Amino acid sequence: MTLSPEFHAHLRHELQGIRDAGLYKAERIIATPQGAHIRTVLPDGSSREVFNLCANNYLGLSSHPDVIAAAHDALRTHGYGLSSVRFICGTQDLHKTLEGRLSRFLGTEDTILYAAAFDANGGLFEPLLGEQDAVISDELNHASIIDGIRLCKAKRYRYRHNDMADLQRCLEEAASEGARYKLVFTDGVFSMDGTIAQLDVMRALCDRHNALLGVDECHASGFMGATGRGTHEHRGVFGKVDIITGTLGKALGGASGGFTSARREVVELLRQRSRPYLFSNTVAPSIVGASIAVLDLLEGSTALRDKLADNTQYFRAAITKAGFDIKPGEHPIVPIMVYEAAQAQQLAARLLELGVYVVGFFFPVVPKGQAHIRVQVGAVHERADLDQALAAFTQAGRELGLVA
Ligand SMILES: *Cc1c(COP(=O)(O)O)cnc(C)c1O
Repeated sequence: MTLSPEFHAHLRHELQGIRDAGLYKAERIIATPQGAHIRTVLPDGSSREVFNLCANNYLGLSSHPDVIAAAHDALRTHGYGLSSVRFICGTQDLHKTLEGRLSRFLGTEDTILYAAAFDANGGLFEPLLGEQDAVISDELNHASIIDGIRLCKAKRYRYRHNDMADLQRCLEEAASEGARYKLVFTDGVFSMDGTIAQLDVMRALCDRHNALLGVDECHASGFMGATGRGTHEHRGVFGKVDIITGTLGKALGGASGGFTSARREVVELLRQRSRPYLFSNTVAPSIVGASIAVLDLLEGSTALRDKLADNTQYFRAAITKAGFDIKPGEHPIVPIMVYEAAQAQQLAARLLELGVYVVGFFFPVVPKGQAHIRVQVGAVHERADLDQALAAFTQAGRELGLVA
């Protein structure tokens, strides 16, 4: 045992504090590939088949046969890994192909791959902005954006969540405080409740105030908008956002990897200066090959995003009809409001017994009194399964006195 007794005791104390605050995150073990039906292993070692409504597997590509086949192909043709960062000897033809394909899909000039979207956001702001500049951020932006902004010297401004008047206030304040360049940055879709950023309004505001607009598309790329390009397409500003970051770990395949997509010179400077790119290993060829196959699928047909949109509409209407309160919207993230933290936990636990896997969110992840169950609808979900899940919601909701 190498830890000093004092440090060991300190760690145990910290962990107990997390448990006492009810914030300890236990991980559920899954013994199958990701999909609509998964088998979870329970603490007693037994296992249970459940209908999964909490993956970011929006298009069902995590276990799609074409995607798996493409990963196998790339493994055969390009090996298991590069054992290098990109600029030493880690750039294969496949990586350049994927960057080009992502640029085309997103309507940008160039794209740079990262090991994760967390790294794309973490390495975005510091190379682009200096202390004379301003970065203006939605207060509920993702942790990786917050961390990325912390690493840069630009002056920080924060506007109230999705509040365009408050964004305008920040833009005016930054201008009056002499900002050289201003970058407004937002999640395209906010993951807690599926709120969709008003990119059209934001673009107009940014134009009026001579600001750049950047968006994190992790919960949008692949399915938002008529052809799945993202929030910019959904809001009618395709090709008009200055910087897009995103993940390959959600709708676009579900393995891992991230990217930043923008004007050529933005990407060029990131390749020179972005630390998570310069000092972290190349994305594995199997993931890159599979991601190209994902884009082939999505550019060839809108069937998957259309099915996702249908399922989303169906589930939102049906759960409302069942008497539950949801936050209205269009995104496959459906927040089912329970308000009280204890009831959200009870509802999730009862649903698991009934074979439906969902997760409750409560303070401090969401504000006090706003506890909810976050359902994520996917293209892998069949109507009959959704109907069964809805019946389970109704039964559990009645038992807990949440619906009549
Ligand atoms: C999931 C997520 C990320 C992180 O993506 P990874 O590729 O898993 O690192 C970043 N931003 C947002 C908004 C996300 O939802």
